[in-house]
Amino acid sequence: MHYVGYSQHENNCSPSILEQKIVEVNTAIDALHFDIAISKSEELIHMADVCNCNKYLFYGYNLLGENHIRLGDTLKAIQYAEKAVEVAKKIKNDTLLAIGYTSMATALPDNRSSKREALKLYKKTLDIYQKNNTGKFLKPALKMASIYKDLGLYAKMKSYIDLAQKSLENDPSTASEYRITLEILQGEYYDAVGNQGKAAEYYNMAYRHTENQDMPHFILSFYESYANFLNKNDNAEKAYEVQRKYDDNFKQIEQIAQKESVQLAIAKSDAEEFKRQRNAANIKANVASANLQQKKTEEILLWILIGLSAIFLIYFYISTRTRIKYMRDLKKKNKELTCAKAKLEETALTKSRFFSTLSHEMRTPLYSVTGIAGLLEKDNDFTMKYAEEINSLKFSSNHLLDIISDLLDVSKLDDENFKLINRPFNLKILMSEILSSFDKYAYRGKTKLHLDIHNELPNYILGDSRRLSQIIINIVGNALKFTNDGDIWVHLDGEVIKPKQYRITFAIQDTGIGIPPEAQKRIFEEFSQVEEGKPKSTKGTGLGLAIVKKLLEKMDSAIQVESVVGEGSTFSFSIDFNEATLQDVINHEDPKQVAKSLASEKSIRNASILIVDDNKINRLVTKKILTGLEVIVTEAANGEDAIIKAHNESYDLILMDINMPGLNGFETTKIIRKSNPIVPIIALTATSLGEITETIEESGMNGFVIKPYSMKEFVQTIVSHLDKTNTTLSI
Ligand code: ADP
Repeated sequence: MHYVGYSQHENNCSPSILEQKIVEVNTAIDALHFDIAISKSEELIHMADVCNCNKYLFYGYNLLGENHIRLGDTLKAIQYAEKAVEVAKKIKNDTLLAIGYTSMATALPDNRSSKREALKLYKKTLDIYQKNNTGKFLKPALKMASIYKDLGLYAKMKSYIDLAQKSLENDPSTASEYRITLEILQGEYYDAVGNQGKAAEYYNMAYRHTENQDMPHFILSFYESYANFLNKNDNAEKAYEVQRKYDDNFKQIEQIAQKESVQLAIAKSDAEEFKRQRNAANIKANVASANLQQKKTEEILLWILIGLSAIFLIYFYISTRTRIKYMRDLKKKNKELTCAKAKLEETALTKSRFFSTLSHEMRTPLYSVTGIAGLLEKDNDFTMKYAEEINSLKFSSNHLLDIISDLLDVSKLDDENFKLINRPFNLKILMSEILSSFDKYAYRGKTKLHLDIHNELPNYILGDSRRLSQIIINIVGNALKFTNDGDIWVHLDGEVIKPKQYRITFAIQDTGIGIPPEAQKRIFEEFSQVEEGKPKSTKGTGLGLAIVKKLLEKMDSAIQVESVVGEGSTFSFSIDFNEATLQDVINHEDPKQVAKSLASEKSIRNASILIVDDNKINRLVTKKILTGLEVIVTEAANGEDAIIKAHNESYDLILMDINMPGLNGFETTKIIRKSNPIVPIIALTATSLGEITETIEESGMNGFVIKPYSMKEFVQTIVSHLDKTNTTLSI
């Protein structure tokens, strides 16, 4: 036996082929070939399904149910019959529904409760037939009457018997099998209700009709009950005849039954084998479909993975592009910033170069002017004749120098590289020096300067004495300018904020013209001056207080002003200083202080000094000053000349210009130092100190004098270096 596939029928939906299939199934059932019948029923179901033809789907299930009824598989039979009913309901086909109900009822087992169930189903069938008015009630009516008989409910039999009778009369072609069944039922009914005559009539009728029929199954039980009935009703002779017929039929039936049971057994086993093979095929198909499903799942997962990877790649691509774009933008911005910075630096450098050049180019000739004016002043004859002109020359050139120095200071203070130095200095000496440096005869009137330093303040502190002097000089200078015939006090007071740390308050008070309240803030701005009440004689750049303010900011301090017009002004500020230790003072020996305390102009007498300068006028001025102090002077016009002279002669000191054509001052010093490490070499330069301090030390120079210099400062520097070995310090 082989499982038959469906593919060959798949596209064949013609009703004749489907009808043919039904015929094949019925033929197989009749031949007890249930395996073939099941297989063909399933083919029919599949074909109907493919063709979407529910009518044949119904027949397929119904036939399958019938097959299982024959195989005695009640459960399966009911299941398929139910499926058939479902299909019929779905397509709302009453005729099919009636067939389905009948099949369901037939499939039910032979017990009382199932019989009641069967009654309901037959009733439904009957209702459908009645509703459709077909007039064909025979089968369900017979079934119901028979069930009521089995249940002993004889009264209920009657109406169904009548119904069957009516249906039979409507259709004379009804098979004799049904006619006989009805007659037997009628006989049984009348027997049960005690109408023996009628019962005998119907039984006899049935008996006659069975004689020529080949229906052993059907009539056996009838012969048995008819024989009993005849015997009961004193018709022994006939009863005997019927009993003999029963015996004959019984033997015949037994043989047939035996044969049929063998056939049925074979058919059943074939059907079982068929089912087994079909199940195996199904399982195989299921496994295959499971594999397919798994493959499909794997495929889906693979696609998901590919999808995710693609999304990731796209995201990665976009983010990389965005990042690259950001990087590019950033680089561009960076480049722009670098360019802007470079431009700024270049501008700053240009500015600083400009001021440096300005410093050198303007200060050098001015140095000559002020120097020569000083020399002319010393010449008595000349002074007698041109006193006024010389005075005017000195005044103008000094003023010009002030302006240049102020401008340079402002520019330097704006430079972020500006740094304060931290060296020990004697505060009291510094203050008295500053005050004594003011030549009161340069101002009209008889203003008196007073210095008031609190006793508790230390002598030596650490700080930038040069910048502190600049602040004091500016404020005191202003006080002198704007005070006519009055008093100026410089008060220094302080408090200890930590051990060895002082907050020193400087207050410069004058009795001058005062400053109007609205101008008090403005005066600290660059180039700002108050015109009201300003004496005509005063000169100024309007930069002094701006410089003071900036310097104090660098020292973490701030300037305050209190002023009343006509009464005077007080400028004050506080700075924190550390007290200098003895070690600090020794480590940072202050040449000016040393020179001041230990030297006199006399120590310079007869010293032999070499002046190295390419500028003839500068050499002349320096030479005049030195020869006036009885110094033996030798001149060198360039670095090469200086090297030869320093090699051939022994000098007590060399004054070296820095900016010279050929070898400059630093280079010349380095060469001299190779053969003479001792001789003090002092730089004479118009260049700002901050720019050259390091180079001065590096080249082997011992000190410097910034041009233009005061004679006193110049001499003190020379003296301090001439006599250095004998220098000691006392605090
Ligand atoms: P200047 O070079 O003009 O003195 P400053 O910045 O030092 O520049 O001062 C700015 C202005 O402040 C001065 O021009 C003056 O009008 C006013 N001033 C400064 N100090 C005093 C003072 N002690 N008494 C009166 N006015 C003063």
